[in-house]
Amino acid sequence: MPEENQTDLSMIVGALKTRDHNPTVYRCPNGHAYIIGECGRPYTVSKCNQCNATKGGQGHQATAGNTTDDGQDRSKTGHILGLADQRPLVAIPERSMSPSVCAIIRMMTHMSMLLGAKQNPQVSTFLTFN
Ligand SMILES: [Zn+2]
Repeated sequence: MPEENQTDLSMIVGALKTRDHNPTVYRCPNGHAYIIGECGRPYTVSKCNQCNATKGGQGHQATAGNTTDDGQDRSKTGHILGLADQRPLVAIPERSMSPSVCAIIRMMTHMSMLLGAKQNPQVSTFLTFN
């Protein structure tokens, strides 16, 4: 999934944390994560590398709209496989996988979603393309 992974953020913060450093995850006004090291409180202002919004702060006060991360998973529901009727009829290679491997993985993913939706119909409302 293209979304950031909350577990990855927690692992990064955990790896950076020491007795003298308290890395803290913040969110820019548009929800993009960034980490402030050392004391974990903002003391410089810069631009978000994803949306160019102001991030950080001064005097240990976050700039308006910037907040500490609450640890909640912000992944969108749904999938990124694309709509079946808009996919090309030929298999397309992705990353270093062959076209056949991609087609098989795509088919198994769709079959898993179908089986899950059949057993738990309420889940089908989340199986939307994002
Ligand atoms: Zn941003």
